[in-house]
Amino acid sequence: MGYLEFHRRSIEQPDEFWGEQAGLVDWHKPFDQVLDYSNPPFAKWFVGGEINLCHNAIDRHLAERGDQQALIYISTETNTERIYTYRELHTEVQRMAAVLQSLGVGKGDRVLIYMPMIPEAIFAMLATVRLGAIHSVVFGGFAAHSLATRIDDAQPKVMVIADAGMRAGKVVPYKALVDESLRLARMPPEKVVIVNRGLDQQLAIVAGRDLDYEALRAAHMDEQVPCTWVESNHPSYILYTSGTTGLPKGVQRDTGGYAVALAASMKYIYDARPGETYFATSDIGWVVGHSYIAYGPLIFGMATVVYEGTPIRPDPGIWWKIVQDHKVTVMFSAPTAIRVLKKQDPAWLHKYDISCLRYLFLAGEPLDEPTARWISDALGKPVYDHFWQTETGWALITGMPGVERTATKFGSPSFAAYGYDVRLLQVGTGEELGSNQKGVVCVVPPLPPGCMSTVWGQDERFRETYFTDFPGRLIYTTFDWGIRDEDGYYFILGRTDDVINVAGHRLGTREIEEAVSAHPAIAEVAVVGVADELKGQLPLAFAVVKDPAAIATAELRARLEKEVMAKVDELLGAIGRPCHVHFVTQLPKTRSGKVLRRSIKAIAERQDPGDLTTLDDPLGMQQIQSAVDQPASREKK
Ligand code: AMP
Repeated sequence: MGYLEFHRRSIEQPDEFWGEQAGLVDWHKPFDQVLDYSNPPFAKWFVGGEINLCHNAIDRHLAERGDQQALIYISTETNTERIYTYRELHTEVQRMAAVLQSLGVGKGDRVLIYMPMIPEAIFAMLATVRLGAIHSVVFGGFAAHSLATRIDDAQPKVMVIADAGMRAGKVVPYKALVDESLRLARMPPEKVVIVNRGLDQQLAIVAGRDLDYEALRAAHMDEQVPCTWVESNHPSYILYTSGTTGLPKGVQRDTGGYAVALAASMKYIYDARPGETYFATSDIGWVVGHSYIAYGPLIFGMATVVYEGTPIRPDPGIWWKIVQDHKVTVMFSAPTAIRVLKKQDPAWLHKYDISCLRYLFLAGEPLDEPTARWISDALGKPVYDHFWQTETGWALITGMPGVERTATKFGSPSFAAYGYDVRLLQVGTGEELGSNQKGVVCVVPPLPPGCMSTVWGQDERFRETYFTDFPGRLIYTTFDWGIRDEDGYYFILGRTDDVINVAGHRLGTREIEEAVSAHPAIAEVAVVGVADELKGQLPLAFAVVKDPAAIATAELRARLEKEVMAKVDELLGAIGRPCHVHFVTQLPKTRSGKVLRRSIKAIAERQDPGDLTTLDDPLGMQQIQSAVDQPASREKK
């Protein structure tokens, strides 16, 4: 069956289509109904079915693949390599599950995981869902304040952390930051389990609260912890993502729909086979890490690579060495990483035998044409651009070589994935657009299995945020602009909202603005994302100070800029740090007081600022212009 026919069937006969895909995973009790969409936009998949993600990722493979490699851990930071077979993974996950259980974790409880890329992080995720509990992994780059916000929203019973991570040879201590977040949180968990890697020499232990994982594990070495069967719609995890407000949303994922969606994607999108090795270079703190490091490959009976390190250490051949040594067949990465590699000697790409590799998929941010062309030529393998979001949990617009090897076009992620009824709609009217007309990329609900079920604890926010852009109709908006050419290929043209994408990481400009404003000298600030050759976008801040004396000299301005950056590091994490903080005396606003972020961004990127008739006072815009014209603003901090 060709792609078009496959897609049409998924949309026109969803019950039959997804009912068949459900056979790719194990059910403890069969479901009664494929889809219950009686309460739109809340789609319930595989209603009444009982399932467990951990069973599907590990236990069900034991008979056939007990001695097969399941988890390949490689750290070029600590020079460690450890391989776990499915049987060994089963044992380790049961130990972790027993530890969590001994701390009172049970069905529906939350476990917050704040860890670097080490096997124990994956054990903790799998152990949590084994118990029917719900994990919330927070990316290790987020600072104490961001972590505290997530703790308060998820209200975990237990946190599992590591003493430290490592990045580019430097130790990144986690524990002190966790202590600070627990001091800030209104409802801190009672217990913190620490995987002590021995990296943080100053580790301070809070008696009664902090527990050493190694000691706990030793007390549960032979424990058998059966899987807790949960109804298909029971939440498996919460993953926070940025939006237009300062408060991140907890994307809630179900269990059965997610398992089916991931298994189907391994077959139809990645064209993978059980027994092979899958290598996603992401981090467990992001959705790709959830779907394609922790769960997807294991559910499909593959080995998954857990890599701690950068793409260029010890040398820029490291990824290809991993591909060669572990016979990786499918690889998943992000355009930023490829742009980093593009700056290195291309000879590194040919040093290793990568004939085993079938495909490279790239997602998370726009894949620019020169980068796509470079990597395709250099690898000599199909490279697929891949459009998706934390919300969808798996690809929304993508090439699907497992269905049909359609030709790719540079700059395009190809076609709507099966299950997604994608439309391009005109803002405001909701009119459906034809070829080569720019509109908002939308999905006619119900969303397929695996997509977010709601915002954690806030059903109304889910409906309101994603489904109410077109009055009178429930339509899911991706908040991305797009265009479809005459051959049906989609092109993604950037966000419609104030979300920016730095090196594939999504950040809300409001969150960064809140962090900048937390500096006592700052009265007001506007943060915009500006184009960057390497990272796609970078945050840039324009701040108004309370007292002009604070920026009277170049020296004072430089000092304040540093302080503001440090504030962002402290509250949000270095990933949110603006590349520059320009000081102005007023921001350009409309007469109704709205900051004209889009025009600021245009000026910062040296483009046409568009219609400025609503501008209250031209001085604000002039100041932005002179700030970006300063020579200093062209080099990066
Ligand atoms: P996140 O939820 O962090 O994965 O961010 C999702 C956002 O990243 C999308 O809404 C897009 O703006 C952007 N994005 C992801 N993949 C692509 C892609 N292949 N091309 C263009 N933009 C992308």
